[in-house]
Amino acid sequence: MTGTTLDDYTDRYAQRVRGMTASEIRALFAVASRPEVVSLAGGAPYISALPLDAVGEVLGQLAAEHGATTLQYGIGQGTQELRERICEVMALSGIDASCGASPEDVVVTVGGQQALDLIARLFLDPGDVVLAEGPTYVGALGVFQAAEARVTHVPMDADGLIPEALEEAIAETARSGRRAKFLYTIPTYQNPAGVTLSEERRERVLDICERAGLLVVEDDPYGQLGFDGEPPAPLRSRRRDGVFYLSTFSKTFAPGLRVGWILAPHAVRDKLVIANEAQVLCPSPYAQAAVTAYLTTMPWRQQLKVYREVYRERRDAMLAALTDLMPEGTTWTTPGGGLFVWANLPEGLDAKAMVPRAIAARVAYVPGIGFYADGSGVANMRLNFSFPPPDRIREGVRRLAGVMEQEIAM
Ligand code: PMP
Repeated sequence: MTGTTLDDYTDRYAQRVRGMTASEIRALFAVASRPEVVSLAGGAPYISALPLDAVGEVLGQLAAEHGATTLQYGIGQGTQELRERICEVMALSGIDASCGASPEDVVVTVGGQQALDLIARLFLDPGDVVLAEGPTYVGALGVFQAAEARVTHVPMDADGLIPEALEEAIAETARSGRRAKFLYTIPTYQNPAGVTLSEERRERVLDICERAGLLVVEDDPYGQLGFDGEPPAPLRSRRRDGVFYLSTFSKTFAPGLRVGWILAPHAVRDKLVIANEAQVLCPSPYAQAAVTAYLTTMPWRQQLKVYREVYRERRDAMLAALTDLMPEGTTWTTPGGGLFVWANLPEGLDAKAMVPRAIAARVAYVPGIGFYADGSGVANMRLNFSFPPPDRIREGVRRLAGVMEQEIAM
């Protein structure tokens, strides 16, 4: 196919392909994975903290002893066994039978990413508005863009989404004659900002959405990864109607298995299953069996503690390095859990323009503009602390601070 370029296809693409651009993060991966580069750019969990030999043994058995089911097609909703285990996991954070959570209303997905795509497929028409925190998860922006929806960002502070700003965004959407379908929110240990919606604001945000007739899509991959005590209970534990709860085993077990889920309002469950069948026929029975076995036969609660401890140490290493090394005028969030710190650069610095200099100095981060649909975030960067060990984190921040000092001096 020599001589063929993407441009040859331009007039054949569907409308929705026009706005598709490579994510800031994907473009960085190739350079960031070079061994000499300290990557603060990724979002990868620290898989080496898992007992990989024991996991390997379980996975081997799944094929050898249960291959007739694990290697066969399965059902679109996901296996009953896994959906029951998922309910046990959700009960840890207060989403249980008392608020109507049941295996019947769980739909297993190919990671949290496909869960987002299913929600978009079910609810978004071209031109619809999605309200989302600013900044928000880059993969969600990709999904909403592919659905030809518009994203209106709602600002946050240290206590998460600002309720008054949400009200204003809803009013503004109405004034523009558009329809806001849902609020997409990551209330706990937000990606990328690292902040958590406070207890008091959770009720207010739910009330505001209810009054405005907005659905709530609560994305919660990080809720089990708190370092400083328990986070406020999820939105779904407070309301059963109008709230979709999405989560994943990617951050607490293994992203390579690609298993996530949606707990849907009962009325929507059937439509979700039909859409799931249209997208993937069924989520991988083998991967589901692997997660089920992990949750049934291995000390997963203990493993969560291990992750929390490893990440707490790394978060502390990053905050200490930022305090010691960052140039004056730099500010950052203090995450109580999750994988990320969000930094605000001194006046005049452009995080995206600085990437090539940072790579030359052998450090990588994700520039903030990738987390906004509207070009904001020029002076921001996301820093990951889950993957590099503490001494590499400090070295990475040292290199980054050096690059910033040079930029300021220019
Ligand atoms: N939602 C959020 C907020 C995320 O940060 C991620 C992964 N980084 C996902 C969803 C999707 O994760 P996965 O598809 O691996 O479950």
